[in-house]
Amino acid sequence: MAARRIRQLGDPVLREKSAMVAEPAAEAELLADLRATLHAFQQTRGFGRGISAVQIGEPKRLIYIESGAASFCLFNPVYERTSEITFELWDDCFSFPDLMVWVRRHRAVRVQYRDEKGAARALDAEGDLAELLQHEMDHLDGVLALDRALDAQALATREEWLRRGAPRFSRW
Ligand SMILES: [Zn+2]
Repeated sequence: MAARRIRQLGDPVLREKSAMVAEPAAEAELLADLRATLHAFQQTRGFGRGISAVQIGEPKRLIYIESGAASFCLFNPVYERTSEITFELWDDCFSFPDLMVWVRRHRAVRVQYRDEKGAARALDAEGDLAELLQHEMDHLDGVLALDRALDAQALATREEWLRRGAPRFSRW
């Protein structure tokens, strides 16, 4: 297993629609690399909770998430339910880590997926985890947080955002 280079904004692969994975159990190496890449990013940048396979150049429908003590490998995830209630927040992305984007997300989602052994599972998520899932699900369809910027004031450099106190759920 090895950390791989994270593809950056401008790389056409980030705009590809990722392919379904026929056999999750056959993707152990890709999953190990994804995990190693997330950990390497966390160590160098001090943040980061989720990554999609397309971000290391493999347009396959696989997401790896770490949320608190829990971790999730989601193959072929699909929404089963999304809440009508939404919330707005500053989002960021490994593929443009110095840019913050003000976006709107569903407050809660339920996702069906296959785990690393191919077993059918479902995940109910709210708040932070729901927002992270929606961000990573977007990657599988070639959609970036940038595309969801709500208005002309919805973009900020990380430097400016930090200067203004790093608010997560409010604007200045
Ligand atoms: Zn991202």
